Amino acid sequence: MRFDEQTAARQSPIPGLNEHYLADEQALLRELAAMADPGEAGRREIGRVAADLVRAVRRNTGREGGIDAFLQQYDLSSQEGVLLMCIAEALLRIPDADTADQLIADKITAAQWEDHLGSSESLFVNASTWGLMLTGRLLKVDEDARRNPAQVLGRVASRAGEPVVRAAMRQAMRIMGHQFVMGRTIEEALERAERRKNSVYRYSFDMLGEAALTAHDARRYLDAYADAITAIGKASGGEDVFSAPSISVKLSALHPRYQYTQRDRVVRDLVPTMIELAEHAKSANIALTVDAEEADRLELSLEIVAAVLKGAKLNTYDGFGLAVQTYQRRAGAVFRYLETLAADTRHRIPVRLVKGAYWDTEIKRAQEAGLPGYPVFTRKAHTDVSYLACARQVLAAGAAFYPQFATHNAHTLASVLHYAGPRRDYEFQRLHGMGEELYAEVVDPGTLDRPCRVYAPVGSHEDLLPYLVRRLLENGANTSFVNRISDDDIEVED
Ligand code: FAD
Repeated sequence: MRFDEQTAARQSPIPGLNEHYLADEQALLRELAAMADPGEAGRREIGRVAADLVRAVRRNTGREGGIDAFLQQYDLSSQEGVLLMCIAEALLRIPDADTADQLIADKITAAQWEDHLGSSESLFVNASTWGLMLTGRLLKVDEDARRNPAQVLGRVASRAGEPVVRAAMRQAMRIMGHQFVMGRTIEEALERAERRKNSVYRYSFDMLGEAALTAHDARRYLDAYADAITAIGKASGGEDVFSAPSISVKLSALHPRYQYTQRDRVVRDLVPTMIELAEHAKSANIALTVDAEEADRLELSLEIVAAVLKGAKLNTYDGFGLAVQTYQRRAGAVFRYLETLAADTRHRIPVRLVKGAYWDTEIKRAQEAGLPGYPVFTRKAHTDVSYLACARQVLAAGAAFYPQFATHNAHTLASVLHYAGPRRDYEFQRLHGMGEELYAEVVDPGTLDRPCRVYAPVGSHEDLLPYLVRRLLENGANTSFVNRISDDDIEVED
């Protein structure tokens, strides 16, 4: 039996789910486009709101530009962008200094860093050209260095050698880490969330670390989640569970063999663990969201979520929810199943709609397995349409769900506002370090006045790598909305 037939034939807890695993993309898209269609007047209204948002973002983005400008300058369509990704991805994993130096020597000389100089308005970008960009210590030596880091990079590499560049690059990774990570500990993250600029948001804390490889790792992550739930509960101001800060949990962090072939063992071990965490979250009066991971784990995660909703002593607590990826062709079927589950268990389920962060992995895995198709959509616009159709589906399900729309895309956001109309019982979500200018408009009581929750990773830079790589891929891809929004050469309407 071929891999895809095996998947389709699996005893799924969800009737009809796997029929959509490799559903015909065009046929499915036609169905979803009809569901998402807001009509002519709706389309105009959505276009107008989205364009206003883009203009506001462009107005709000300062010349300092920060990491957004940096990632736009070095996006994955440039050779240097790809090199930076390679170095970033590899450097944190290289245990010994010699190999790290060889990697740097090999990669740094291969690129035309000069070509990027002056082509960004951002001081941050011009003060950088990677590696050395962020090493204030080296650059302070010489004011000229701020203006011409490429030259300095070469000079320092030849004078001081790769070890200095290695230290600089590690420092750069740390600074990038600071951009995308809320704090090294939950206490630090909670404290940062209280600061004035941040206090307009709700938060969902994510304890970095995923894919536990040993039972010992899994225990460590479980303890980190449990301690975080206690700390978040203490810091929460007694709000209702939908507005209180919350926690996001990755099932792959809690079991070393979280994979379908180990189903019996995973269900036996993980259901009690998750019941314990859900009951703990309930007593702390905060919500808990199960993150969405690779497509091959979808059924397992749904089985565990269902078992917790049925087996935990949750009473009237409606804070146990999950993220659903709309780039998967099975997304619509997942929401249909969850609606039934909400009715059966008499719980309102918080659902976080995301497009999905593992697209490259899904494509590669499907190719490796020789599948005749993909479990995800293959065009960016198709994923967008799927998101919109799912948003409508979720809103139409009334009290079955507490909808949470996680996106940095102004058009997606404007569509949700249109579909929701006067309804207020939902929230938006963004990632820490991304979408700040966009959501400044959304949460402002004088403009759109809708709540937004920030997904806030917590952990040390050793645990950061898989998360950071997903963010760099997302920000660096030239199909990505965040990559395009602040590029003035692109027309607002486009
Ligand atoms: P857009 O630029 O509009 O969309 C980018 C997305 O389009 C890509 O991420 C990808 O999903 C899709 N895409 C890109 N190219 C193609 C293509 N060729 N064909 C088909 N689709 C394509 N992700 C998870 O997987 N699991 C989670 O649990 C999760 N939690 C999150 C929580 C929050 C609060 C947020 C904000 C994000 C979370 N994410 C999660 C990440 C999320 O999937 C990405 O941030 C999101 O896909 C970006 O979408 P966008 O609407 O912001 O941007």
